[in-house]
Amino acid sequence: MALHNKILLGLLAGAVTGVIVNLTLGLTPTVEWIVRNVSEPLGRVWLNALIMVVIPLIISTLALGVAGLGSISKLGRIGLVTLASFVGLTTIAVVLGLLAVNIVRPGDGIDPGVRDRLMATYQGQATSSMGLAAGALGVNTFVNIVPRNPVAAAANGEMLAVIFFALMIGIALTTLRPDKAEPLLRFLDSLAHVTIAIIEMVMKFAPYAVFALIFSVTARFGFDLLLSLLWYMATVVGSLAVFLVLGYSVILRLVARRNPIDFFRKARIVMLTAFSTSSSNATLPTTLRVTEDELGVPPQIAGFVIPLGATMNMNGTALFEGITILFIAQVFGLSLSLGQQIIVVLMSVVTAIGVAGIPGGSIPLLMMVLAMVGLPVEGIAIVLGVDRLLDMCRTTVNVAGDMVTATIVDRFEGVPAPPVPLSAAAGPQS
Ligand code: ASP
Repeated sequence: MALHNKILLGLLAGAVTGVIVNLTLGLTPTVEWIVRNVSEPLGRVWLNALIMVVIPLIISTLALGVAGLGSISKLGRIGLVTLASFVGLTTIAVVLGLLAVNIVRPGDGIDPGVRDRLMATYQGQATSSMGLAAGALGVNTFVNIVPRNPVAAAANGEMLAVIFFALMIGIALTTLRPDKAEPLLRFLDSLAHVTIAIIEMVMKFAPYAVFALIFSVTARFGFDLLLSLLWYMATVVGSLAVFLVLGYSVILRLVARRNPIDFFRKARIVMLTAFSTSSSNATLPTTLRVTEDELGVPPQIAGFVIPLGATMNMNGTALFEGITILFIAQVFGLSLSLGQQIIVVLMSVVTAIGVAGIPGGSIPLLMMVLAMVGLPVEGIAIVLGVDRLLDMCRTTVNVAGDMVTATIVDRFEGVPAPPVPLSAAAGPQS
């Protein structure tokens, strides 16, 4: 059986088992023990193994990609198309989200009693994100893109800084004499292959890990919450689905000149991984492999667009932010003016760049935007209980958006594969 089918099976089996346990036994101490000591750790080991290779993968593929482009002017053009696509897709996503939440108005039906109960239950989690929100986005975010110490940046998971360092290595390589550049190019090429070999091994365990991850979510989930937040969840998931299926298909067809059905067929293993892990970073290795091998995007472009996208391009997250901010306003009976809604659009686009590609990465930034438009920051507690389910859906849209951008850049700035300096350099030994 193909791997993506096995993963799908793991996902369904995990979801069904978790829901049955939840609805029949409830969250008894034994169930809680099993989730905390068995299923969650198993899932986390697998996630860790994927994230383990992200830094070497970003450094090797990005530096190689840029070096393979051969010149800074080519990099500049690709960079511009990439950023234009990121910003364009993210803006369309937020606007769609805002339209949906203004039409459905899911917050109007929430009873103040339910609101207060939700806030009391999830207050603790909200407070712990509050500290993160304070420093989430500011001048330092931009200053720290240029790391003083790249090793420290890598150790702290500061992806933008790692990306910057890798870009600089790639640019510098294009300026060197071939005999000086070749040893590092060979090393990076080998490193990229090693990380990909590790990922292939780790992905073999995906069906079991996905079972454990999804079981942990559904076994613990408060399904009663689902009812009170049903319209809110339907608005988020419905808009994400429309954007994923219709929005991306139109863009793929008209802008990237690709067949959407073929795209989604090839992208399904990436989308399943994103859905199960709720993490763009953990999905990055798979996204990169599929974009190159299945979608046929040249490594120079995929190696540049995909790592950047995993960090900067979060279409699904921006859509979710827009809906959630207006939903919280509706729950509190406050209405946002058109001007405030435009600020929501702008801030959702900007903050989506700063969101870390990890589960729940957007929550601190979302709290920041709430404060900016004058809404009660504690309101975030209302949605925290269902966030994991929404996170799974928005992360799927986030990574699909990275692949869509890679196909757009490929259409406008396509370069012939394979990377020029490496195939020549690695020839006789490989
Ligand atoms: N989990 C999302 C991602 O990794 C980020 C978020 O919206 O919380 O793409």
